[in-house]
Amino acid sequence: MLVEFAMVFQLKLIWNLFTNAGSLWVAWVNGNILRKKSFWTLQDSLRLSRTIKGMISLRQQIAEFIQCEMRNSLNISFSYDTWTTHGPLINFIGSNGPRSLRMRKEALVVEVVRNGEWRMPGARSETQQQLMITLTTIAPPQNLNGPDVFLWRRNSGSFENTFSSKDTWEQLRVHSPLVPWNKVVWLKEGVPRYSFILWLAIKGRLPTRDRLRTWGLSIPTNCVLCSDGIETHDHLFFKCSFSARVWQSFASRIWRNPPSADAVVIAKLLLQSACYMIWLERNARLPPSPQQVPQYKQL
Ligand SMILES: [Zn+2]
Repeated sequence: MLVEFAMVFQLKLIWNLFTNAGSLWVAWVNGNILRKKSFWTLQDSLRLSRTIKGMISLRQQIAEFIQCEMRNSLNISFSYDTWTTHGPLINFIGSNGPRSLRMRKEALVVEVVRNGEWRMPGARSETQQQLMITLTTIAPPQNLNGPDVFLWRRNSGSFENTFSSKDTWEQLRVHSPLVPWNKVVWLKEGVPRYSFILWLAIKGRLPTRDRLRTWGLSIPTNCVLCSDGIETHDHLFFKCSFSARVWQSFASRIWRNPPSADAVVIAKLLLQSACYMIWLERNARLPPSPQQVPQYKQL
């Protein structure tokens, strides 16, 4: 229990550092310890106090507690803060990722924006390509938006803009992962575009016909795979007779015999592949939209 109390205290100090609260101490740390460097990349050294060393040792844990709501991005680290659904990007693009994207490890998000647009070098790997796709779904930061907001994780899983010692202590006692499906979606053995489709499917953000209708498009809502039911996420991936046959054929390959522990990665990959193939087949069967027909004629 004492260990947990000490950890809550240190997490509170880190929260203060991020939100610039606790003024005098934060000003002292910024001026004497960090000196314009990032908390994320500060090297441990003998000259540091026990308090600062303790804070450094919590860097891995802190990533699960703190998130950023990006406004002007003047305080958000591109690689280390959590400002996209991929979590800290250094884990997603790898430790060589920043260099490969021609940026400093300590670069701020604002450094990859020019004239209100994302400015990144060409993607050199599928992971980087995935990152570019994610960026297109995020509005670039603007000065007009005001300062960034840091959020702290609550026991319920939601994030709020205040620190709660009691709530944090409860989370340390019964630790639960940030998103239980995170490790199913983002695998180092996986294919990024498969992961991306699975991620959108789990979040219910694929442009299924029921959603397209709510956006005002005048299109039929029936499922193009079975013609029997409204095309929602739930129907497409769980209730559709076509999808059921895909699941059966995939699942029968690993569950013919009881799966071993090694089969977990394969099961995750099969899940990703099945979702991707169902979505690909669904797109292939869509009739061309009215805007596409003249283009085909021109060809
Ligand atoms: Zn169907």
